[in-house]
Amino acid sequence: RGLKVDISEALFSKAHRPLDMAAREKSASLMAAAMQDHFMRSLKVDISASGRIRTRKPKVKKQEELCSLMDDKQDKADKEDLSLAQKLGLVPAPPSKLTREEWMSVAERSRGRQDSCNDCAICRESFRADAQVILSCSHVFHQDCLASFERFAGAKSCPLCRMKNYEKRLFEDGRRNWEKVCAVKLQAVWRGHAGRKIFNHLVETVVPTDPEKRRQFYYKRMEKLSARLFSALDAERDQDLDDLFRESELALQFSRGVFGHSAGAGCGGVGERRRGEEVDWEMVEARALQRDEQDCAICLCDLGGPSKKKVLTSCSHLFHANCLESFERFSSAMAEVDSLCPCCRSKYEKRFY
Ligand SMILES: [Zn+2]
Ligand SMILES: [Zn+2]
Ligand SMILES: [Zn+2]
Ligand SMILES: [Zn+2]
Repeated sequence: RGLKVDISEALFSKAHRPLDMAAREKSASLMAAAMQDHFMRSLKVDISASGRIRTRKPKVKKQEELCSLMDDKQDKADKEDLSLAQKLGLVPAPPSKLTREEWMSVAERSRGRQDSCNDCAICRESFRADAQVILSCSHVFHQDCLASFERFAGAKSCPLCRMKNYEKRLFEDGRRNWEKVCAVKLQAVWRGHAGRKIFNHLVETVVPTDPEKRRQFYYKRMEKLSARLFSALDAERDQDLDDLFRESELALQFSRGVFGHSAGAGCGGVGERRRGEEVDWEMVEARALQRDEQDCAICLCDLGGPSKKKVLTSCSHLFHANCLESFERFSSAMAEVDSLCPCCRSKYEKRFY
């Protein structure tokens, strides 16, 4: 404080009085002291009262209030931070504050490099919605990351380009970018959900044109219907199920009768031979050959060559003789009626083949 008073006296005398020798000496020593103070400040060296030189510890400043990018408010703190030599004009003062237009161009440079879309260079993490600062060298960092960096480096120097005595402002691009990323993600999820819903609905309702797919489509539909039917019936009450099966058996008999009358025995295996009609074994054999069955439908094994005994039924199905015999014994023991063909459930006559 004493030094400052002396300086003002010196300046006063410089302006209003012709300098005598003593005053000139005084001002020269003041300038020397000011220069020494300036270098000590810039090198962060302190001389204690005892004359011992020690490195000045970096002051731990509390988080400074930053103004946003487009704010024109100039803070006075930095003006008071000037060293005496800078105030006297012996050493060039640090460059003056950036104007609003200069900040705009700095922000444009940062946007051109898409810095805010990338990670913070200090912690290598995305900016997300955290507070972000932009330096006058157009580099951007997390506010907290830069504060930690300044504290531990003990100097104001950009971690990327080492520019000294930068200015910094709060920057919004990182947060805006993060909002966009989140919105896009939400939209994608929603669109995917809506699309899948529509697709599933179409799959369930539109009948495919491809015959194989159409078969599967109706098969699935039938499965669903029968599942619903069973869940509707009370499984505990067997009477219900028995009634259902009896009814479906009757319906089957009825439809078989309809098919038999409309198409006669010629309609594949479904047609039942009319009563009293002589079996046309040549036709039956021709149909069996046309179908070219390789396996016995009862044991699911190969029908084998001419060595194995086989039977041909009047509905043109081929079985192992032993298999069909066992099947007949089994079904007569179960139902005490004429056995039906295991493949097409029609009454048949048989002959060895
Ligand atoms: Zn960071
Ligand atoms: Zn930089
Ligand atoms: Zn068999
Ligand atoms: Zn048959």
